[in-house]
Amino acid sequence: MTTTDTPSAIASTGYRLRLPGPTEVPERVRQAMARVMVNHRGPECRTAIGEAEEMIRPILGTTNRILFFASSGTGVMEAALVNVAGPGHRILVVEHGQFGERFTTIAKAMNITVDTVAIEWGQAIDVAAVEARLREHAYRAVVVVHNESSTGIVADLAALGALVRDRPTLLIADSVSGLGGIAMRQDEWGVDIVVSASQKALMCPPGLALASVSAKAWRVIGQDEQRSAFYWDFRRALKSAEQNETAFTAPVSLIYGLREALTMMHEEGFANVLARHKKLSAALRAGGAALGLADFCRDEPRSNTVVVFKVPDGLEGGAIVRQLYQDHRTVIAGARNRLSGRVIRFGTMGALSAGTILTDLLHLEDALTKFGLPIEPGAGLKAATEYLAATA
Ligand SMILES: *Cc1c(COP(=O)(O)O)cnc(C)c1O
Repeated sequence: MTTTDTPSAIASTGYRLRLPGPTEVPERVRQAMARVMVNHRGPECRTAIGEAEEMIRPILGTTNRILFFASSGTGVMEAALVNVAGPGHRILVVEHGQFGERFTTIAKAMNITVDTVAIEWGQAIDVAAVEARLREHAYRAVVVVHNESSTGIVADLAALGALVRDRPTLLIADSVSGLGGIAMRQDEWGVDIVVSASQKALMCPPGLALASVSAKAWRVIGQDEQRSAFYWDFRRALKSAEQNETAFTAPVSLIYGLREALTMMHEEGFANVLARHKKLSAALRAGGAALGLADFCRDEPRSNTVVVFKVPDGLEGGAIVRQLYQDHRTVIAGARNRLSGRVIRFGTMGALSAGTILTDLLHLEDALTKFGLPIEPGAGLKAATEYLAATA
């Protein structure tokens, strides 16, 4: 262990976790997770699971039972597919970034036949193109990433839901980086399976994932004999969820953490949580623009939970990321895909205040100035504070 890995060293350096996940975990959530370990099938854990479920339903906009899994987000992406499709079935993946491509990779690994609607990264999804494909095939599912963390574009789930409503096709959405920070109205929009995970806008450490499954999806799951899942079998998970349990050992501490995070979100008022994400992400974009950083997105709707800036010509994204960490212990993301070196990404989700994004802009200005960009001192802060004042 190097000295910078010790807890006190991390705290004393002012470590700022500003990734689009995992995100900062509030002290209240950390304390809730430090409770004594209990029986994962005892009353304490069942109460926690039941309360977490009750509090997350309005955030999902659903009355479905919620299935919890010990897993990262990718696990429930795979689970969503394996429960509704297998070899011989055909699905349509709307790819508008790295995580959409992951869905295609997962489906191919499961020998599902995959068609894709490839959207240019940074542009809005093409609903008409999806509709055209739906007229050609009776797809098992349309699969899409709600909030593309690699580009900062949000998919219009309401429009996609309307397309599948009167068809046998299901709509599956990954809202790992959206849920809790941007609106999700699963039942109203007709999203059949929503999957998400703990470490993004839900303000928890990584390791807890969830799925919310519609009645229409349950009918498909119930009739499907080709399923090759065991751990991920939603039918077994549902039986346990009905007892406020998980099929296999629950990640008890993470459940406690999620319950606390959801309590905080409801104390703030979920409408206020959404408004705060919208306002602070827009303020960060305004500040970035004043520093000469263009938004990677060329379309609406833009994400309120992740801000993706184009790296100015002549600079390399990784160098900015390293400089921010080295000088300020501010941890942001670059890209690990075709955009590598060309974008930098800030999480704007979870425990985020105006002070957070103003500090980001202060550190960003310092780094960009060191790289020789001609920046008016304080330009980013000025633009962001003006934006915040105007939208107060
Ligand atoms: C973070 C993320 C995931 C999940 O990634 P894991 O590393 O498996 O937790 C999935 N989809 C999106 C859109 C994400 O942002």
